[in-house]
Amino acid sequence: MSQPNSPVILNGSKCAAVIQEQLGEIVARLKGTHGLIPGLDVLLIGDSAASISYVTGKKKAAEKIGISGRIHHYPADITLAYGLEKLEEIQNQSDCNGVLVQLPLPDMWSADGVDAERRVIDAIQVAKDVDGFTLASQGHLFSNHPEGLKPCTPMGILALMKAYGLKTEAVRGKNVCVVGRSHIVGNPICHLLSQKPQEDFNLGLGDATVTQCNSRTKDLARHCLDSDIIISATGYPGLVRADMVKPGAVLMDVGVNRVEDSGKKRGYRLVGDIDYEAVLPKAGYITPVPGGIGPMTITMLLYNTIQAACLQNGLAIPGLDWADIQCKIAEI
Ligand code: NDP
Repeated sequence: MSQPNSPVILNGSKCAAVIQEQLGEIVARLKGTHGLIPGLDVLLIGDSAASISYVTGKKKAAEKIGISGRIHHYPADITLAYGLEKLEEIQNQSDCNGVLVQLPLPDMWSADGVDAERRVIDAIQVAKDVDGFTLASQGHLFSNHPEGLKPCTPMGILALMKAYGLKTEAVRGKNVCVVGRSHIVGNPICHLLSQKPQEDFNLGLGDATVTQCNSRTKDLARHCLDSDIIISATGYPGLVRADMVKPGAVLMDVGVNRVEDSGKKRGYRLVGDIDYEAVLPKAGYITPVPGGIGPMTITMLLYNTIQAACLQNGLAIPGLDWADIQCKIAEI
């Protein structure tokens, strides 16, 4: 008799807690041995409730593991020039090892055709670019330089897969469909998975055959159905349906979308791009939303901050103990 499929739920919250515990031990060692306390500075402009909540979450997570987290909050009506000046001041502090600018930036900064986002992001010193968004960091990534700081969400996807025991063989030669082509998720994850497996580059998860889709793709369903792994990063709830998924596929849902829900106090709930409930019986591995890729993104931000602090102080980058992480995840 055939058994009902029982998918592995890739629990990003628990995995993040396991990795962050290890990061906390690394930070304690850095402090004890070298007197080094990694510092993460966040520049926040404006009063978007979502942005405030994101940066507060990052600061709290940093502080919990002993990283010094600081938020520099300015009103939405400051000028681009003033914002750039503040960014310079922040990243020139001796205790700042990593800096990030919370997006989006004020609309008025992009008036008259100015690409404010590019200007601000590229004003970040590459050694402190813990989001991995500068052109220089992207250059490192797309030329396969292991030493660059890599964007947190793609690395969070790889880390979650690895923590759950998906090894090189689970990716090598497999068909991967990435839905989305942003420079922060879609493009980097395509590149990382399609390159040779290298521990210090893509955590050994490479050699995949990657198909990248966008909003103009014809027959998204066919590309998804052909794939052993689907990574969706679009911001469209329910885009990936059950009839688009091959049985046993690995489903990584990056999307975070609000859908109205009168049953919730706040009037909405968060869902991903993948129709979770419908797809669940067919999935081999699947990430929930919330509690999937989101917490892993923050974890990789913390790890990037530690890496940046070490590099700036001439110290070797501390590696993660994957055997221990996999062992703890297996016990969950
Ligand atoms: P972008 O808006 O920059 O990119 C979205 C991409 O999805 C675009 O390339 C777009 O195509 C593509 N797309 C949109 N509709 C379709 C469609 N119907 N079929 C195929 N492709 C489509 O978004 P981001 O990459 O910044 O973020 C994507 C989602 O991930 C959002 O929900 C965001 O909130 C979430 N996110 C979550 C993170 C986390 O940590 N969990 C981190 C970062 C993002 P085109 O280029 O043609 O417009």
